[in-house]
Amino acid sequence: MEFAADSILVLLDTTPAGGLAKSAAALIGAAASIGSPVAVVVSDDEQLSLRAAEFGAAVVLRAETGARRVDALSQAAALVEPDAVLVSHSVEGRETAAQFAARSRSGVIADAIAVARDAEGVTAVNAAYGGAYTVESAVTWGAPVITLRQGVIDARADSTPLDERILSVSPSEIRPVEVASVEEQSAGSRPELRGAKRVVAGGRGLGSKDQFVIAERLADAIGAALGASRAAVDAGWVPQSYQVGQTGVTVAPDLYIALGISGAVQHKAGMQTAKFIVAINKDADAPIFDIADFGIVGDVSSVVPQLTAEIEKLQA
Ligand code: FAD
Repeated sequence: MEFAADSILVLLDTTPAGGLAKSAAALIGAAASIGSPVAVVVSDDEQLSLRAAEFGAAVVLRAETGARRVDALSQAAALVEPDAVLVSHSVEGRETAAQFAARSRSGVIADAIAVARDAEGVTAVNAAYGGAYTVESAVTWGAPVITLRQGVIDARADSTPLDERILSVSPSEIRPVEVASVEEQSAGSRPELRGAKRVVAGGRGLGSKDQFVIAERLADAIGAALGASRAAVDAGWVPQSYQVGQTGVTVAPDLYIALGISGAVQHKAGMQTAKFIVAINKDADAPIFDIADFGIVGDVSSVVPQLTAEIEKLQA
């Protein structure tokens, strides 16, 4: 099989329901900005290849369900000899990136927020110190394996005619992990936190579990996902899966509304790349205001219900 000399291999995640994960368009978009995207997907459904071509994959290598992702990726990399391998910074993506890099002795750049190309090859951009700095890095040997943060890449590629090739994957000797069951954590009708376009997050300043309802009402009024600081999680007000930050979920929504959150560096690490940050806090000196695009100094228990009521009025 022939592949473009500037090929970028892109591993696409699938959802438990069998569709393409939301991250696909941005991964292919990022690949197209630095070369020719060759997508790898493990699925029996050729519709997924079609979707990948719509997102701009020049070639789609589809391996049949049952193949291990790392085996498919390894085989694809041997065929394509890409300049870089892009993988989503999802739980599955991180796992496969690490397995593939260990196997191929490649360097990994994790949680990148952008990719670029210079005279020597593909580079990645990371946010450091909670987003206060950006760092550009490259690997010194071979094609870098880059995991890309979800929700930060705006680039989208033009759709291409489908060029699907079936990848026959011979299983490696290594015993695969067996997934006994998948339990989807339902956020009800709310969007999933990871990759959400809007997030309303509550902190210790909400005061109690019952008061978290005001965050929920605001989130529902604007169709946002619900997040929280670690203090709110530790207090038992919300599940750990809501935690935004260094030891929680990293989000990069268009809008992030922080309610009663002080803005500790560990919290900022998970949300500082949000495009527009609104903070409501009764302490005018709270560090969250240093990064907020719009700040309200006030008590959440009076400001948030008023804000929600105004939004609901506009929608009525
Ligand atoms: P606080 O810092 O207590 O802030 C509460 C804020 O609410 C204050 O600014 C206060 O002025 C305001 N407030 C109080 N009452 C009201 C009111 N009625 N109206 C309006 N405002 C009010 N934290 C995370 O969030 N995510 C992480 O992933 C994370 N990882 C960590 C990892 C490590 C290794 C460590 C050491 C810490 C980590 N933390 C993390 C904890 C972090 O340091 C902070 O303790 C935490 O973020 C604080 O949460 P908070 O802002 O809700 O609470």
